[in-house]
Formats: sequence, C-alpha cells, structure tokens
Amino acid sequence: MADIQYLKGVGPKKAALFAGLDIATVSDLLHYYPRAYQDRRPNAPLSEFKKTENLCILATVVNTQLVPARGLAVFKAFLRNDDGSFCEAVWFKRRSMRYDALAALKKDFRPGARLWIVGRREDKNSFASARINVDEYYPADSPLAKIHTNGLIPLYSLTQGLTNKLFRECMAAAVEKYLGEETEILPPALLAKRRLLNVKQALRAIHFPASAAELEAARRRMVYEEFLLMTMAWQIKQKQGKAAVKEHGYQIKRTLLTPFKNNLGFNFTSAQTRVINEIFADLQNSKPMTRLLQGDVGSGKTVVALCAMLLAAENGFQSAFMAPTEILAAQHFITMRKYLNGLGVKVELLTSKTATAQKAKILAALAEGETDIVVGTHSLIEDNVKFKNLKLIVIDEQHRFGVKQRAGLRAKARHIDMLSMTATPIPRTFALAFYGDLDVSTIDELPPGRRPVRTMRADESAALKLVQAEVAKGRQAYIVYPLIDESDKLALKAVAAEFERLQRLMPQLKIAMIHGGMKAAEKQKIMEDFAAGITDVLAATPVIEVGIDVKNAAVMVIQNAERFGMASLHQLRGRVGRGAAESFCALVAPRCSAHADERLRTICATNDGFKIGEKDLEIRGPGEILGTRQSGDLEFKTGDIIKDKEVLRWAVDDRAFLMNDDPQLLRPENRLFKLRLIELYQKQWHLIDLG
Ligand code: ADP
Ligand code: MG
Repeated sequence: MADIQYLKGVGPKKAALFAGLDIATVSDLLHYYPRAYQDRRPNAPLSEFKKTENLCILATVVNTQLVPARGLAVFKAFLRNDDGSFCEAVWFKRRSMRYDALAALKKDFRPGARLWIVGRREDKNSFASARINVDEYYPADSPLAKIHTNGLIPLYSLTQGLTNKLFRECMAAAVEKYLGEETEILPPALLAKRRLLNVKQALRAIHFPASAAELEAARRRMVYEEFLLMTMAWQIKQKQGKAAVKEHGYQIKRTLLTPFKNNLGFNFTSAQTRVINEIFADLQNSKPMTRLLQGDVGSGKTVVALCAMLLAAENGFQSAFMAPTEILAAQHFITMRKYLNGLGVKVELLTSKTATAQKAKILAALAEGETDIVVGTHSLIEDNVKFKNLKLIVIDEQHRFGVKQRAGLRAKARHIDMLSMTATPIPRTFALAFYGDLDVSTIDELPPGRRPVRTMRADESAALKLVQAEVAKGRQAYIVYPLIDESDKLALKAVAAEFERLQRLMPQLKIAMIHGGMKAAEKQKIMEDFAAGITDVLAATPVIEVGIDVKNAAVMVIQNAERFGMASLHQLRGRVGRGAAESFCALVAPRCSAHADERLRTICATNDGFKIGEKDLEIRGPGEILGTRQSGDLEFKTGDIIKDKEVLRWAVDDRAFLMNDDPQLLRPENRLFKLRLIELYQKQWHLIDLG
C-alpha cells in the first residue's frame, strides 16, 4: 500500500517521524491502534466536571473580551452551553504575539458562532458557571470537528514532533482514502460463525468508534485475528516437531533401572509408575517426545525424570537436566549422585559458577561422550557446551524459562526428546493455545505419609517460638526473606544485619545464612551442612524457593509474606512436610494490602497446588504461570489472554476446525490467512512446510 509520505498532510519530514514508530505505509498507519480514547461526547453538564478534567462542549459565543495584563494578553470568550449554562473560555498569550494569535481567535469567536470547545476545567470559578482552559476548538459542523470531537476520540502513542491532533487527521485521511484497499485475511466462514466485524469495519471503528459497543466489537475482531494466527503457528510448529522421525531407538534393558530402584529406599507411587510408563512409551516411539509433566510440589517429579535419563544411559545416550537456579541445580546434582551411587553412571554439574579449569574438563567429557547426565542451569545452552550423543533433555520448573531458552537447549541435537516439568499447572485453554496438542502427564498423588503442612499467619515472635520448639524436638527450620535483587549491595547488607539479629534472638540455635550473592562453593557447603543436620536454621533469600529437599526440615517461616506471589509461597511451603513429622508454615506479614490478604488466606486454606494455580491466574495473570513473560511470547498488540479468555477459546476451537478441514491451508478462502501466518511467524519460528 501507499507510502505514508503521500498521505494528505504528511510529506517527507513527517514521514520520517512516522518511520520512528515503524509506520512506513498507510496500511501500517491503519494498523497502528490507539493506546486509549478520550471521551468527547458532550453529554454531561459542565458542573459535573472536576477541575482540570478533560471536557468537550458544544457552545455558542455570547461575546469576547481582550484583557491586557503585564507581559500577557488574555483573551476571554463568554459562551452559552447547549444545556443553558454559561461558561468562560480563556487563552493566555505572551504579549508580543498577541496580535496575530488573538486576531485569529477573534475571527473564530464572533458572537453567535457555534463551536466545539475541547479543554480542561480550571479551578478558579469566574462569575460564569465555569472557566475552561482551551486546548482545541472547532467550528460546529466543520470537517475537523467530525474528526476531533463528539465521540470517543483516539489517543496514540506518539513520538517527538507528532501530535494526537495530527495523528487523528492523518488517520482520518487514511481511513477515508485507503481503507478500501485493506484485504480481509480471516476466512469468511469464521467471521460469520463468530459474528465478527470485517477488517474494514473493524479498522474504521477502532480509530473512530461510533459507540463504546462498536469499539468493543472492533477490538474483539482484532484480538481474534491475533489469537488465531498465534495459536495456528504454535500448532503447526508442534505438528512439525512430531513429524520428525528419530534415528535412534530405546530398549528397556534394566541394567541401570533395576539397581536404581533398589537404591531408592521407597516404592514409586502408582501415579509415578503410570507417568514413567507414558514417558517410556514416548521414548520408544519413533517421534520425538514433547511431554509436559505436571505434579504438585513434592509429588516426586525428579525421580521420574531420572528414570527417563537412566533409560537413555542404558542405551548409551546422554541427557541434560536444566534447572532454573544454581542452588537447585546443585541440589539435584547431589540427590542424583546419591541415588546413582554404585551404578557407574557419570553425572556432572555445570553452572555459571563452575570454576574455569573444572568447566573445561566437564565440557571435554561431555563432548567425548564420557558423561551420561549433566545437570545445570541455563549455562547448558551456551555454545561451547557440546555433546557427543545427546538424546534427552529435561527442563525442571519449565515455567521459569523462556521459550527461547527451552528451544536453545533443544537445538543441541537433532530429534531430541524433551520432558518439561512444572508444579504450576496450566489451564486447558492456555495449554491448547500456547502448546498446541502438547502431551501432558500428571502426577496427581503425593508419596505416602505426607501430611499437609499446617499453615498460618503469625507475628514474628510467635513464628520464632515455633522454630525454637521444633528445633528442641530435633527438627530444622527455614526462615525466608524477600529479596528482589540479589546483586544489590545494600540489600545484601540488610540480610547480614538480619542474620545477626536472628542470632541474638535465638542464641542457642545454630543458624546459617544463604543468599544468591554468595560464591557457589560457599552456598553448596551451607546447603550440605543443613542437609546433614549440622545447622538448625537456614535463613535464606528466595534462592531456596524451588526444589530444595531436606526431609528433617519441619518449619518454614516466611518473612514479609505479603511480598511473595502465591506460586512462590506454595513452592516455599513445599520445602517442608517431606518427612513423617508434622510440619508448619508461618506467614509473617505485618503490613498487608487487601490483595495480599486474599493471597495469604488462600495459602492458609489449601495445600492443593492446582487450586492455588487457578486462583493465582485469576489474581495475577498468566505471564508468570506460562513462563513466557521474559521472552515476550505473550505480548499481544491488542489481546489480553485473561480478559479475552472467551476469544482465546474461540481461536483454539477454530484452529482445531481449520487444522481438520484444511490442514495445509490450501483452500482459496484460507489463502490470505496462510500468507499472513507465513509473514508473521515463518522466520521467527522457522515454520517450514508452509510455503
Ligand atoms: P517435586 O515433584 O516437587 O520436584 P521431588 O522430586 O523433589 O518433588 O520429590 C520430593 C521428595 O519426595 C524427594 O525427597 C523424593 O526423594 C521423595 N519421593 C519421591 N517419590 C517418592 C515416593 N514414591 N515415595 C517416597 N518419597 C518419594
Ligand atoms: Mg522439583
């Protein structure tokens, strides 16, 4: 479509400014939606507007007055409102420019003239009922008045040199002259089925809505289009992954699995057994596995993953296990080494804190194929990490990683099998929308003997009493502090001070402190001491949030619990209640907003991670839960996957229809939709098979 500079009122200079907003063509402009709307419907009486509030009135000029003042000239117009009230409109001008500026005003404000006035109500009341600081005015019935007044008026995200007024006038010109050239990409059958506006109606209405209802209808159409394209792309990507054929096969030899099981000291729950079978079936299948393993905190996902990695090892394949934090990776490494003791399986740990010399050795062993299992953080994704025979990746707490990171690990080898794990279940519509038909396994059963953690609100002294009482019984405790930025020196200082204070309050206890700013070896030593029962209390920042596993720990105190999200609170609480003893979680929250109060109440009321996940989604939105916030996958131009849940469901349903009806999108009525899909996603997602 036409270059923006040929649009009426633009030209090369302004075109350069538009280019700064990624607007090169008139079509780009039409698809640049307002960030908000100003209500310029003249329906409320003037007296109802608060001071400095935006208003728009249609009024008749009674008379005008030019008042000279020191250094300034003030022009006043007395107006009669259509509702019968009177008001006064004022302009202040520097005296030097009063003549030209004010002469123009005088010409427009002849007594009897009818004008639209857009401005803000001033605080000073004059003898008239109100005084208005005028921003814009337009003669009634003028073409400009149609663009700028009497309705919901669009406001755009601007850049220096462009005003809303100019934007609106350009947009009006674009709508007027070029809207006819916009092509409909949505298949007509779907438009009809969902009773959606066509693209021309929707574009006009999104810029210049005739009513709030029309605006909503326009938005809904745009959101639907966005969602349908996105979810189709995911689905196609997913299908392509499944179309690949593995060149390697798995045989269940039990040379490692059997001794491993005997090493464990417990039996798998029936849910674990079921899930292990599902995973083994995937591995033996000729298509690469993409399976999501859901299971509440403490349900025993790690050993399930370990079974899969051992099956790989039995067949001479390497596995990589990626965890979101260094502490967690270290913890997994320790646990796995313990479970694999005597099996002759070689496990290594690789994080950003691994010492250089050590790292070189580990990398060499991986590349040589000597290492069977590597546990690590996102360091595993780095280019210099090479494998001889990588076939399986496990992503722990997958929602903590962005899509790019997950894809990065997956790209380490061809036809890789992938197992993602999460304790935060994804509601079905989202799972379908963002993962296509992902295979999901759920561990819906906790190991036997687990007792729900008794959770309560407490003040700090009560919480510390509880800690001391439990330690007296031979148990251990965590005390967790919120700390947002672990690299913040001041915050770390505060942590150290807090540590000393705890020590003074409970001098008889052995307390250790751990936080993200420490060196890896130091952290590991502290964790090991705690795991071995050498220390009684571990005071920590949220570095211990996920996956830490010390059975003798029976108390979790969470300081400033109001500052944690629900998923974090549930994860933290999941650090206790792992042994046979009754466990406690004390939430210390001295200053609590209503929202925080609701979160804490939910946590106290239930131990069920699925329920908490649902509530969390309601309160907080899906970014955290789907784990894609940092990667921008959920940033839609118009849609909001919570507010527009209904439309998302339509998109998911209609995707299923399309994939069934015309999987290659070959029908003529789907052609433009397919082209748009390619344009938007092919490069970014390496969608093939679409051309
Ligand atoms: P999560 O699912 O939260 O990652 P983990 O894998 O860390 O849970 O397991 C929590 C704890 O439960 C670990 O100490 C693990 O050894 C133990 N565990 C796992 N499965 C069983 C089982 N079937 N019986 C008893 N304990 C188990
Ligand atoms: Mg875990």
